[in-house]
Amino acid sequence: MNAVIDNLQAVDTAAAATVTKPAADKIAREDNKLHKRLCRLVGQAIGDFNMIEEGDKVMVCLSGGKDSYALLDILMTLRERAPIHFDIVAVNLDQKQPNFPADVLPRYLTELGVAFHIENQDTYSIVKRLIPEGKTTCSLCSRLRRGILYRVADELGATKIALGHHRDDILETFFLNMFFGGKLKGMPAKLVSDDGKHVVIRPLAYVKEEDTERYAQVKNFPIIPCDLCGSQENLQRKQIKAMLREWEKKHPGRVENTFSALSTVVPSHLMDRDLFGFADIKADGLANPLGDIAFDEEPCSTPSTVPGIIPLQQE
Ligand code: SF4
Repeated sequence: MNAVIDNLQAVDTAAAATVTKPAADKIAREDNKLHKRLCRLVGQAIGDFNMIEEGDKVMVCLSGGKDSYALLDILMTLRERAPIHFDIVAVNLDQKQPNFPADVLPRYLTELGVAFHIENQDTYSIVKRLIPEGKTTCSLCSRLRRGILYRVADELGATKIALGHHRDDILETFFLNMFFGGKLKGMPAKLVSDDGKHVVIRPLAYVKEEDTERYAQVKNFPIIPCDLCGSQENLQRKQIKAMLREWEKKHPGRVENTFSALSTVVPSHLMDRDLFGFADIKADGLANPLGDIAFDEEPCSTPSTVPGIIPLQQE
């Protein structure tokens, strides 16, 4: 009887092996495609915005979250292939939050063989001392963090500060500024820091969050939870994130289009009088495709289904 059971188990194991091999191959192919896509998009963003130049020392800010791990990993791959020479130094700010696993990043970075620096600054206690219980701590916390990272960049001789914000962070910031701040303003892929002394770059600007999520799983990054400070996630950002996820599901292409709109701005068709000299315009008799097309249809191909609204006639 035992022999029969052994035989049946052997058959099962063999069957499982034949089923899992193609599945495993497919997963490996998908993982490889993901890595290639991340390298391509990061390389494209670096090229489009001239983010990294010969001789740069790029300080990669590493929080222990999926995005900054992905950023460091992809930048290291690209550095191997780049026609220019640049250095990378990973920096983590240990803010002394309760239960922060201080050994995780040094171990990971040592194994990776990248130059790194851990900056120990107890901003957690400062924030707790200065902000009353129940009030939002993030704005003081990030101001303190920013100042410290600028100083560290100076001390390390870094010429660029690389942050792990991705496409979805940029879009969320754009909608946050529009919905709650009344401004058409996103998060730049490259800009001088507010102290005027550093160039901040966001090489993941073209990368979707779902890709960094998957990449973190594939690479098994030792993720450090981001809620150790006990602060609640910004409710408004949460709403925007949910809105974008919903769009992605129900209206494929809408998020992508919105993102590409950020790179295709037509100041004359907005209303910022500082960006376009509306006060001084005169008709010069020259045809201009960017001129007003007041009598044309809206840029919408779907006839209106709103009750009471008569669809525009298609020519
Ligand atoms: S979530 Fe916590 S660590 Fe992050 S900025 Fe806010 S207070 Fe600081």
